[in-house]
Amino acid sequence: MAKIKAEYIWIDGHVPTSKLRSKTKIIDGPVTTLDQIPEWSFDGSSTNQAEGHDSDRSLIPVSYYPDPIRGGDHILVMTAVNYPDGKTHETNKRDHLVEVSKKFAGEEAWFGIEQEYTFFQGLKPLGWPDGGYPAPQGPFYCGVGADEVYGRDIVEDHMEACLVAGLGISGVNAEVMPGQWEFQIGPLGPMESGDQLWIARWLLYRIAEEYGVNASIHPKPVKGDWNGAGAHTNFSTKSMREAGGYEIIEAACKKLGEKHDEHIAVYGAHNEERLTGLHETCSIHEFRYGVSDRGASIRIPLQTVKDGKGYLEDRRPSANMDPYEVCAILLETVCS
Ligand code: ADP
Ligand code: MN
Ligand code: MN
Ligand code: MN
Repeated sequence: MAKIKAEYIWIDGHVPTSKLRSKTKIIDGPVTTLDQIPEWSFDGSSTNQAEGHDSDRSLIPVSYYPDPIRGGDHILVMTAVNYPDGKTHETNKRDHLVEVSKKFAGEEAWFGIEQEYTFFQGLKPLGWPDGGYPAPQGPFYCGVGADEVYGRDIVEDHMEACLVAGLGISGVNAEVMPGQWEFQIGPLGPMESGDQLWIARWLLYRIAEEYGVNASIHPKPVKGDWNGAGAHTNFSTKSMREAGGYEIIEAACKKLGEKHDEHIAVYGAHNEERLTGLHETCSIHEFRYGVSDRGASIRIPLQTVKDGKGYLEDRRPSANMDPYEVCAILLETVCS
């Protein structure tokens, strides 16, 4: 037995978009099973999750990962917030996904989430000139060179940290707006997707902190003729991935079209600033699906058409969405 540092991470009650919080508990290690990690509590009145006169809220460990920053046997612990009597807190969207994912476990759903984000140094995106704008968009997407990409050191450190933590990160790329980047988590099942995207976000903020840089997941961090930031959610079920899957994908698109407003309601705050119909988006007021169409709500990748099976890409979720909510509603709409 040795003492280890366990970083308890949770989602707060910030409105309209929850933020991440964390604090460290020294526990006995090394930890080899989830039940060795104790429940803990925090002051919910400081996170918009309680009133001061009744402020204790519980942190329930739900998954844990090797801590790539502290190393050794130290761990990161993803937690869910409950009331002290065990009741699910309103800000805890994970419990609902647990139910939905059990209900549709037979579908073997996979999610691949593309998390876009923007680095900021002070009030301006990283690498942008003082009191002005960089050259118009064009050369920055997947660019190379000090005149085109800003923050690659952070991106590399973050990707390495995700791998050391055992996350299912599948890639990174520089985005269309300078200072903007993307990483992808998945494909993974619904619970792993939700937990790991939140952990990957936490690692991004934590690592960027070392560089004096802040990563923003606001869907439209710079107003005007600049790309917004999304969280395209690629989705498939077992039957979509098998022969005859294309028909099932098309049927799923039709179902998604009938529930457009319900989906938009949980796809992130300020998303109307991003889903304008410009900058590779479909207007928030319309629903359209199409093959290889990056101006549609749902894109069916060309490869999926060629193979007759595969997955669909829901392009509507914004960068600040809660993956627990997005995965749950996709399962409910498509699999019901
Ligand atoms: P884009 O061309 O839209 O930029 P990316 O390569 O960034 O696409 O992201 C695609 C994501 O889809 C990746 O995370 C990948 O792992 C995931 N993915 C691939 N196949 C499937 C599948 N069958 N079901 C769900 N997600 C998938
Ligand atoms: Mn992508
Ligand atoms: Mn992208
Ligand atoms: Mn995409």
